[in-house]
Amino acid sequence: LTFDEIQFPTSIRNVIHQLGYIRPTPIQSQAWPILLSGQDLVGIAQTGSGKTLSFILPALIHSAGQTNARSGDPLVLILAPTRELAQQIQGVGADFCAATNARSTCIYGGAPKPPQKREIRYGLEVCIATPGRLLDFVREKTINLDRVTFLVLDEADRMLDMGFEPQIRKIVKCIRPDRQTTMFSATWPKEVQKLASDFMTNCAHITL
Ligand code: AMP
Repeated sequence: LTFDEIQFPTSIRNVIHQLGYIRPTPIQSQAWPILLSGQDLVGIAQTGSGKTLSFILPALIHSAGQTNARSGDPLVLILAPTRELAQQIQGVGADFCAATNARSTCIYGGAPKPPQKREIRYGLEVCIATPGRLLDFVREKTINLDRVTFLVLDEADRMLDMGFEPQIRKIVKCIRPDRQTTMFSATWPKEVQKLASDFMTNCAHITL
């Protein structure tokens, strides 16, 4: 597949051009048509495969079609196991978020809450979060997940290894069932399969 074959909006195409990307990675070629059609997806892929843009660009296109988020109400939620991964996702997506006027905020534990709360109140379309801190903010009503319609679980196997399953399940219960859901994992053990079958219906699978 070429970038031109995916009918990205001009704002996104311009960034791809500015960054000098020549062609989609294999995971992107497979994931974009599925996610842009609105289907759920499980992707088995490692870091370095281009997986971040494979879900961020469809997420941005998806949320651009919606009315502006109220302060503290993201439209896109990306769950990640660690602060480092959350920040890495934000970094890879930064130019694309800027070009589509989507504000992204990272929420993670092990750091003071007030600066993160201020960012949430200031407004966000895309929330990239580790499960524990996000659940704290949901319980404190700092953040509201009612308007999330695009959910990503990145590195699902690592999130389960770190013991985040109870938090993930509580978070997903707060999100409307008619959302679009994507799960990425480096491995495909039974526990991840169970999570996928509980959170997704009629999903496509891609493996690198
Ligand atoms: P990821 O696997 O998502 O962590 O991405 C690894 C790196 O590859 C990131 O720095 C991206 O900016 C970059 N990247 C993603 N897609 C492409 C592409 N199609 N062509 C060149 N670089 C890319």
